[in-house]
Amino acid sequence: MHTNPTTTSTASPKVMLITGGGRGIGAATAKLAAVHGYAVVINYHSQHAPAQQVVQGIKQAGGQALCVQADVSTDVGVLALFAAVDQHFGRLDVLVNNAGVVDKTARVQDMSEARLLRMFATNTISAFLCCREAVKRMSTGLGKEGGAIVNVSSAASRLGSANQYVDYAASKGAMDVLTHGLAQEVAPFGIRVNAVRPGLIDTDIHASGGVPNRVNDLAAGVPMGRGGSAEEVAQAIVWLASDQASYTTMSMVDVSGGR
Ligand code: NAP
Repeated sequence: MHTNPTTTSTASPKVMLITGGGRGIGAATAKLAAVHGYAVVINYHSQHAPAQQVVQGIKQAGGQALCVQADVSTDVGVLALFAAVDQHFGRLDVLVNNAGVVDKTARVQDMSEARLLRMFATNTISAFLCCREAVKRMSTGLGKEGGAIVNVSSAASRLGSANQYVDYAASKGAMDVLTHGLAQEVAPFGIRVNAVRPGLIDTDIHASGGVPNRVNDLAAGVPMGRGGSAEEVAQAIVWLASDQASYTTMSMVDVSGGR
């Protein structure tokens, strides 16, 4: 563990909250953030075991971590999550809006109301609710110390995902606009807001959408000729969160192998 880059003058570690941090890109981000000295709050929805495993790994390496079950697609869940952060660490320096879902491949003409409500609640409204709570805890206009927000969008917001899941792409497009607007709104108050737009990344999300081999199937169409790893996305997230990115806000960092 190296703690210097992110510790504060009072030597208490900076705190990073990662929604959906138990698996995939969120888990890789949690592990890397701990190596950089953050105390990490790992939110998950239903899979306790992998989230607990990430916490154990961080603690065994001498870091601080906590996992918190909460459905971030609901106001109740988000309020409970942030209350847990307050209670356990008493500060928040970085929010990573990472929780997200895809659905089965479908055309817009076949999408149900239930599908659309779940998609936008989980991928977009969650990010708004978490940003709201994070800003209250970070804004220098409210007497806090500032901070950073990183939204995990997707290359889908540029590509549109026709014949696959335009709903997912649109939910991420909204996240890009949230990044664009909120970054300007809170820049005067010490908060930077950026996004990463991963391309084809090797995680469980593709199996959850019914296409487990999606990364391999589409890799040849990526200019770099391969899918990416969760760890490669985590590197960009942790950099955007860090003081090394002190003049970077309202940016969309594509981590997509040129796709
Ligand atoms: P993943 O492996 O399926 O992990 C998704 C995480 O989100 C899980 O930890 C899950 O919790 C959590 N989650 C889902 N719904 C939630 C809810 N309502 N409340 C709280 N947590 C919830 O997916 P991933 O590939 O790492 O994706 C992470 C982010 O990257 C997503 O926003 C995704 O859209 C984005 N992304 C991924 C790719 C890719 O190719 N993999 C590309 C572009 C963008 P449980 O573990 O409890 O289920």
